[in-house]
Amino acid sequence: MARLIDGKLISTQIKDELKAEVAALKEKGIVPCLAVIQVGNDPASSVYVNNKKKACAYIGIESLAYELEENISQEELLGIIDELNHNDMVNGILVQLPLPKHINEEAVIKAITPKKDVDGFHPETVGNMCIGSKGFLPCTPAGVIQLLKRSNIAIEGKECVVIGRSNIVGKPMALLLLRENGTVTITHSRTKDLKEITKRADILVAAIGKPKFVTADYVKEGAVVIDVGIHRNEDNKLCGDVDFDDVVDKVSAITPVPGGVGPMTIAMLMNNCVETVR
Ligand code: NAP
Repeated sequence: MARLIDGKLISTQIKDELKAEVAALKEKGIVPCLAVIQVGNDPASSVYVNNKKKACAYIGIESLAYELEENISQEELLGIIDELNHNDMVNGILVQLPLPKHINEEAVIKAITPKKDVDGFHPETVGNMCIGSKGFLPCTPAGVIQLLKRSNIAIEGKECVVIGRSNIVGKPMALLLLRENGTVTITHSRTKDLKEITKRADILVAAIGKPKFVTADYVKEGAVVIDVGIHRNEDNKLCGDVDFDDVVDKVSAITPVPGGVGPMTIAMLMNNCVETVR
């Protein structure tokens, strides 16, 4: 049986460290403030936004909620972001994605000043990450790196394979593993012989968006498997991109779903909020 990489525990450790740091900052009169913008009331987005507000409250970060009508125009939304960009009381700005179809997400992401870009999606933030300059790191991939480091799993020199090349998970994940001196391969839907590549991985990160896609024949004996996927199965239970029961006896360590990567994303968002005032 593999070691379980406990994202719930590790994310709580990170949040407690941040709480202590924020308490010390408060004594110097510094209180980080995050503006959270939600457009419309998609139930899944509401759950994510509420979890972010709760995490802010736990750590002592102030949060400002902007609950905007589904039919708000792109111009109005960009106007609110512009005001927040210039508001010295606001340190971080987060726009919950996805946005309604009539709003161009790319335009919204680019409108947030890189100084307050706590999601790490702005092209300037992405560029800084690519060249290894200081800046915010995207929360989910940064959370995966923390999971590995805090579980004492070395990345340096390891064969790392990432399945998926999205801008929010796969691509930045590969860059961060590379930054940690992993030997990195990115795979995607056009990859030939996927199993042959994933079976080389010492560390396999699955960010495919397909429930239970990764079965035992995709993994090497003793590999470390990180499951970024989140889905609801036919019984309304959460599951990942990895078929946990199928691979668990073959690998050395694995993240569960729920309780693996998911809680780390919020912890790293909170870290970025504190980073704005460090
Ligand atoms: P996405 O934008 O749909 O990207 C999926 C990637 O998987 C694409 O690059 C796609 O390749 C690749 N892919 C699809 N089918 C494949 C196949 N048969 N073989 C190899 N590659 C394949 O998804 P995402 O936003 O990166 O998210 C991935 C998963 O992580 C989802 O389940 C999502 O819900 C979850 N997620 C979790 C968190 C968290 O906090 N835990 C955060 C974000 C996302 P192409 O590029 O060729 O299409």
